[in-house]
Amino acid sequence: MIETAEKEKLALFGGAKSIQKPLNRYNSIGSEELIAAKKVIESGILSDYIGAWHEKFYGGPCVQEFEQACKDYFGVKHAITVNSATSGLMTAVGAIGIEPGDEVIVSPWTMCASATAILNWNAIPVFADIDPETFCLDPKSVEANITPYTKAIMAIDIFGQSANIDALIQIAKKYNLKIISDTAQAPGAKYKNQYAGTLTDIGSYSLNYHKHIHTGEGGILVTNDDDLAERMQLIRNHAEAVVGPKGVTNLSNMIGYNFRLGEIECAMGIEQLKKLDSFIEMKQTVAKKLNAGLKDLPGLQIPKVQENCTHVYYFYGMTLDTKTLGVSREKIYAALKAEGVDGLFAGYQNIHLLPIYQKKIAYGSFGFPWNSEICKREVNYQKGICPVAENLHDMTFLGLAICLYAFSEQDINATIAAFRKVWDNLSDLGV
Ligand SMILES: *Cc1c(COP(=O)(O)O)cnc(C)c1O
Repeated sequence: MIETAEKEKLALFGGAKSIQKPLNRYNSIGSEELIAAKKVIESGILSDYIGAWHEKFYGGPCVQEFEQACKDYFGVKHAITVNSATSGLMTAVGAIGIEPGDEVIVSPWTMCASATAILNWNAIPVFADIDPETFCLDPKSVEANITPYTKAIMAIDIFGQSANIDALIQIAKKYNLKIISDTAQAPGAKYKNQYAGTLTDIGSYSLNYHKHIHTGEGGILVTNDDDLAERMQLIRNHAEAVVGPKGVTNLSNMIGYNFRLGEIECAMGIEQLKKLDSFIEMKQTVAKKLNAGLKDLPGLQIPKVQENCTHVYYFYGMTLDTKTLGVSREKIYAALKAEGVDGLFAGYQNIHLLPIYQKKIAYGSFGFPWNSEICKREVNYQKGICPVAENLHDMTFLGLAICLYAFSEQDINATIAAFRKVWDNLSDLGV
């Protein structure tokens, strides 16, 4: 009998941990942002907007300069800064002229704000399933969910790559729908030589602390449509007070908010945008090294990138073939965590299962808008409507939050070593 080298014992069973120290946070802020913010603070003018039809309706000098820089970077006609991507998505849904009770198709595999932006205009979110490889909306499921009441699609460019925009645009043309891109996690990702977020009616990027580039809080809306741009500028800044003096005749959804981004944030945003390409390269390098170290592990699917597209790796999304492995994701996840793998998460989001949809309680406590006459049919939010997203969430998905941490070469190698150690010991994990 051939002696086999003794395997290293899993940390889960009392062996030594592969990784001793937690990851450092990713920090995109440097001296350039400090200098830019200081200059604004010294000026004393931290925001230079007026919520009326006035030369200051469009904001101060840093807002103007940042919006111009966004137009140049993304190659779009209009860029509109807002104080979060959440308010940006609300702005976008209002701008496309949604009517109360209209249906908007959205993915369940996203941050909750993608769908609540729809509800905010008393429209009805309808959840379509996702593609098991890209985790973005599955165009077939989108088409299957279209009803006479569907007005738009909210396409999420999740984890750092674009949704299948060609297929979604075809559907939108066929059924006369608008498309909004929630590109919060994929700024700078390319879809066939154009930036994700720029190919649909409106694109939306986030500048919150957790994203590739940030200003603390903030968001950017982009469009090539003059009318949509004007309507978004109005919703951002007290539309109802401005439409009269500005001579706006289309008054639908001209309820305005204060969604304005300040001068300090825009000054920092100008510096952050200059660095975006280098940050993307950093994340892509981490992913490339992880791919090289993990791709041969049986039953583990590393991220797939659509042809002629780039991925900017907000998250590194993997799936497990638990049937082949004979081990549940929970066991594998527990073993990896015990080894000290940081930034790891099991499952992601199934937002159709949130209480707001399960109980259909949003505005007040009586079920508005679903039980009112504006909602023209019974909309199903039960478990089972998005089997791919549900199975990924419950059973097979594992992610590494590579945008939230600064993965050094050493961190990457240690993460790979921990995965390989767990894979060497799969038979010890049981089912
Ligand atoms: C972060 C995020 C948002 C919301 O962004 P905020 O700027 O925090 O409002 C929306 N959608 C997705 C997919 C996100 O990741």
